[in-house]
Amino acid sequence: MWRSLLPLGYSRSSGGYRRFAWSKADLACRAWFTAQAADRGLTVRTDRNGNQWAWWGEQLPGKALAIGSHLDSVPDGGAFDGPLGVISSFAAVDVLREQGWAPARPIAIANFADEEGARFGVACAGSRLLTGQLDPERARALTDADGVRLGDAMEAAGHDPDALGPDDALLDRIGQYVELHIEQGRGLVELERAVGVATSIWPHGRWRFDFGGEANHAGTTRLEDRRDPMLSYAFTVLAARKKAAAHGALATFGRIHVEPNGTNAIPSKVSAWLDGRAPSEAALASLLAELEQAARERAERDGASLSVVNESLTPIVEFDHALRDRLAKTLEDAPVLPTGAGHDAGILAARIPTAMLFVRNPSGVSHSPAEQAELADCEVGVHALAAAVRELAGGGL
Ligand SMILES: [Zn+2]
Repeated sequence: MWRSLLPLGYSRSSGGYRRFAWSKADLACRAWFTAQAADRGLTVRTDRNGNQWAWWGEQLPGKALAIGSHLDSVPDGGAFDGPLGVISSFAAVDVLREQGWAPARPIAIANFADEEGARFGVACAGSRLLTGQLDPERARALTDADGVRLGDAMEAAGHDPDALGPDDALLDRIGQYVELHIEQGRGLVELERAVGVATSIWPHGRWRFDFGGEANHAGTTRLEDRRDPMLSYAFTVLAARKKAAAHGALATFGRIHVEPNGTNAIPSKVSAWLDGRAPSEAALASLLAELEQAARERAERDGASLSVVNESLTPIVEFDHALRDRLAKTLEDAPVLPTGAGHDAGILAARIPTAMLFVRNPSGVSHSPAEQAELADCEVGVHALAAAVRELAGGGL
């Protein structure tokens, strides 16, 4: 499976992946998913929000156990974030079948659409739409860096954007969701374990800071005559770091857009996106309030304007305790640990019991080509997922 998936969306220049939602590379990944399902005789259905589901025993009674993850990536992302969960799901089906096991209730392998939000700015768009946590009107109007609307990108891919919206009929068919994912930190390295079970996801959100100033000549405009929004932005980056440390939180500016973006021009506008995460919702809220105030004061000194827009906000997610404990026990007392990363499992947790399995990442690095997992650990992950399916979806020989 890795051999056929790895070339898709691979960037030779960076050594990473560019599988942005509804791009050519993403469509190739979706076709790969369909082919893998077909090879196993699984029925693929695409829901109204573009999420793919490969069903094993769709006609069986009872609610389905869903497993899976996503195939899209951040810009120059690693090979494992997302795909490890999808590949492990197909591999777990293979393992169970080799064992002569068959489910007593339906199993569905999911490939959630647009998990990373790399192209249109909203993370977990597919699962948010499915569960009614993203307004379809707003989703359709989201635009990428080239001004292409999400609705148009989906339509070009043969998907009806008017169908977007909550899908209670589908959610009612799913009893639980278990997502296997590469760990995006070094928790399991320190615990010296290959696989762990997630406890919670930190609350997190994205904010756009628009600093406005006045474009002017870099060579003829006196320092005291400038209205330079880059200065306000630079100050805000440093303030974010300071305030994150003070709150035991994380704050990152990883993306900016500068106008006119000329080497010899003072910028007229700097738009910057802040990714904020904290152990509690209160800590995240005060981090943002303090940062916005500091940025505003600085912008005033620079003669710049500032507007701050919250683009997404995800509350703290406590994974289902009963499911978590049952999985940890099934996996021979696997360790439990929290994460600062958002996942579709966190979005679905608002509607159905969900759990996550993490596979050790020796470097702890993620969202980068340096993201790694040992083959032996991936195999432990597959067998852990197979054991989880066996435990949760009944059945027998
Ligand atoms: Zn992921």
